[in-house]
Amino acid sequence: MTLESLDQLNNEIIQCRKCPRLVAWREEVARVKRKAYRDQEYWGKPVPGFGDHTARILVVGLAPGAHGSNRTGRNFTGDASGGFLYPALYRAGFANQPTAVSCDDGLTLKDVYLAASARCVPPDNKPTPEELNNCQPYLERDLDILKPWVIVCLGKVAFERILRIHSVRNSAWKFGHGALYQLDAGRGTWVLCSYHPSQQNTLTGKLTVKMFDEIWAKARELMQNE
Ligand code: SF4
Repeated sequence: MTLESLDQLNNEIIQCRKCPRLVAWREEVARVKRKAYRDQEYWGKPVPGFGDHTARILVVGLAPGAHGSNRTGRNFTGDASGGFLYPALYRAGFANQPTAVSCDDGLTLKDVYLAASARCVPPDNKPTPEELNNCQPYLERDLDILKPWVIVCLGKVAFERILRIHSVRNSAWKFGHGALYQLDAGRGTWVLCSYHPSQQNTLTGKLTVKMFDEIWAKARELMQNE
């Protein structure tokens, strides 16, 4: 049996139409557009994973931004969340440049692969439980292919998805910035939590540059200690 590749998986993801509400919304956003981007062709499809196909760190976000990755077609690219994430990845040595504006901007990642809990932009940034369940098999397949040593969960939704995938029912596992757990009774993959780099968190100071840098330093330390 041939092993599935991330390219094969991503080709399947971008054709997905499992969630009628999200299919309608992603296409509506792509049709109406934001005024500043009215001359651009929006991606308007599910956003595939992006990064190093041999990464030891899998980063799980929430869902595409309406005028960020739903426009550009690449995770965290073209919006404020990416404007906070990629400089941090660059400072930590995981990215070759701090900027992410389009799919052909030359950005490459080393040892980090980005995925999401839902691959299509949801209204109000809120996928329903059913939509998250529909999308979960893609994340499971990312995990199967990559077998990451560290999973960085950006936000509580991503953390809860990872717990669900791994059937973790330990009530002591709670989401919090910097919270760290290890799967398989302390022998497996590390799960490291971070606040999501959304403007809601970064503009209010809930997530600072220093706090975010500490997450990536910790991820690197965990990766290197494996
Ligand atoms: S959110 Fe996921 S499961 Fe739903 S349509 Fe998009 S890619 Fe498919």
